Amino acid sequence: MDDRHGSERLLATFLEAVRIDSPSGEEAAFGAWCAERLKGLGATARFDDSSRATGSDTGNLIAEVPGDREGAVLVLSAHLDTVEPGRGIAPAVDGGVVRSSGGTVLGADDKAGVAAILEALARVAEQARPHAPLRVVLTVQEEKGLVGAKALADADIRGDLCLVLDAHGPVGRIIISAPTHHTFTATFEGVSAHAGVEPERGISAVAMAASAVCAMRLGRLDEETTANVGEVRGGGETNVVAASCLLTGECRSRDPEQAERIRLEMDEEMRLAARSAGGSVRIDWVKQYDGYRLAPDDERVALVERACAVAGVEPSLVVTGGGSDGSVLTARGLPSVVLSCGMTDVHSTQESVAVTDLDAMVRVLLAAIDLAVSS
Ligand SMILES: [Zn+2]
Repeated sequence: MDDRHGSERLLATFLEAVRIDSPSGEEAAFGAWCAERLKGLGATARFDDSSRATGSDTGNLIAEVPGDREGAVLVLSAHLDTVEPGRGIAPAVDGGVVRSSGGTVLGADDKAGVAAILEALARVAEQARPHAPLRVVLTVQEEKGLVGAKALADADIRGDLCLVLDAHGPVGRIIISAPTHHTFTATFEGVSAHAGVEPERGISAVAMAASAVCAMRLGRLDEETTANVGEVRGGGETNVVAASCLLTGECRSRDPEQAERIRLEMDEEMRLAARSAGGSVRIDWVKQYDGYRLAPDDERVALVERACAVAGVEPSLVVTGGGSDGSVLTARGLPSVVLSCGMTDVHSTQESVAVTDLDAMVRVLLAAIDLAVSS
């Protein structure tokens, strides 16, 4: 099959993929479709038993393609789920760009990645390309906080390098560093009282939360570090001193020690605000994921850069403030880079992807698969 036919097949695969609903938690139909495709390409495909832990209607999809050469074991990864509004997606191709024609996202995040993986493996099979063993990991509920990746069994996190096909922007962007991410939910407790008759007896939890927020350093704190308050919810009638107030927020840094320092700083500001007012606060922190950082001269990064060059796209190494399955996989022992797949305006109804970017992504994958074979 020549490249033009491969390109047509790739687009058809992508269009078919986005037409299968797979909102987070309801990935079963799309997962089954992917598993059938993978089996048709000579891969073994199975679902793990993570659904009990994740609440999804299916597990993560794990596939393996035996190799006929020695070399680095590449893991190709993407996620099965899409964000809302993402049901009944009707893609339309116009001027070489795919968009959703209705009031939904397109779902290129992350079906551009899934389609590129399927097309690359199809070409490997039909061109009988020599290759080292390949693994595919397609996760559930990435959009809900990397839920599927966190639920993977240790035994399913194997390989030498994972290519996570899940970033927006032009093909060739290679994300080599992502932050450590902490979130909190805090509940301030004060004392309610009639605000007009005896406010002296009250302690306002809303005021506590407000002074904590004012004391926090928020926004971009340094090149690698950010902090934010998400939600403030509390109080009720205007004539009641608020007894309770909920506050949520987060901090992130590509420097894990700085992330911890800011986490402690935010924590202390909330406790101080509660203490000063005579109230109390309960704070629950969750580490969403650990950051990671591959060195720009890491040989695995070099392999991906070379693959881009072979594929005719300009490689660029970038750092990000967001997390992905690559954060979880790297922290759990599988070094990962996250690759841009050409998608734009993700998580919006304006989302799009250019057909040329889908093609370029497949070329990068094929070049990486070639380069992974030991010389
Ligand atoms: Zn994504």
